[in-house]
Amino acid sequence: MSEKTVLKLDNICRTYGKKETALQVLNGVNLQIKSGEIVALVGPSGSGKSTLLHIAGLLDTPTSGTIFVQGVNMSKASDKARTHMRSTAIGFVYQSHLLLPDFNALENVMLPQLIAGKSMKEAKEHALFLLEEVGLKERVLHRSGELSGGEQQRVAIARALANRPALLLADEPTGNLDPKTSQSVFQTLLHLVKQTKLSAFIATHNPELAAQMTRQVSVQNGKLVELKGNAL
Ligand code: ADP
Repeated sequence: MSEKTVLKLDNICRTYGKKETALQVLNGVNLQIKSGEIVALVGPSGSGKSTLLHIAGLLDTPTSGTIFVQGVNMSKASDKARTHMRSTAIGFVYQSHLLLPDFNALENVMLPQLIAGKSMKEAKEHALFLLEEVGLKERVLHRSGELSGGEQQRVAIARALANRPALLLADEPTGNLDPKTSQSVFQTLLHLVKQTKLSAFIATHNPELAAQMTRQVSVQNGKLVELKGNAL
């Protein structure tokens, strides 16, 4: 059986602003991510990594080009269809955790599942499983403000995987953490991605983290460039 393509970007262009102030950040980006692949998005600040991740995650619309998620053309899809795809097939981890401060870790991971229509029991069981996987078994009832930066980011990872997405998008997921915590949180992320067999597209400044993924790509002059092969 051939590997499934989870994300396909076809000739994506994105220009900000108009006329003389127009800034063309993406200028014909092509990318395919197959099931099980973990792709590092590297490159200097301002090269267009966040722009590309937002487009891939259906949070922003390209100026032109086509996006396929799990083989479905999302470019001309309605807002409702895009929202549905986003909440069922895609998980996000941002640089800052964006957890709900008045809710505990368990509730933060249950909430997206309840919104998606899961029962309380099912949502709780799966949240407990994910929180244990990210090493927070003893912290599930702590409110997010009571957790360390690394622990908060672990909850954010569990929350991103709560609805069993096919694709995980992460924008500098360990960028706010010290190097040691960053490495350990990143190992957890990689472990979960491999265990759940999902695909991931992860922006990072950190060459050591990028080297642990399947492939590395970079936005250079608005185009996507494939870098050398990786260890995985
Ligand atoms: P990176 O994530 O690699 O740091 P970004 O995608 O955030 O890069 O930004 C790429 C370029 O696009 C930068 O020059 C940035 O200033 C510009 N940019 C990003 N978002 C906007 C926006 N909403 N309006 C105008 N320019 C933007």
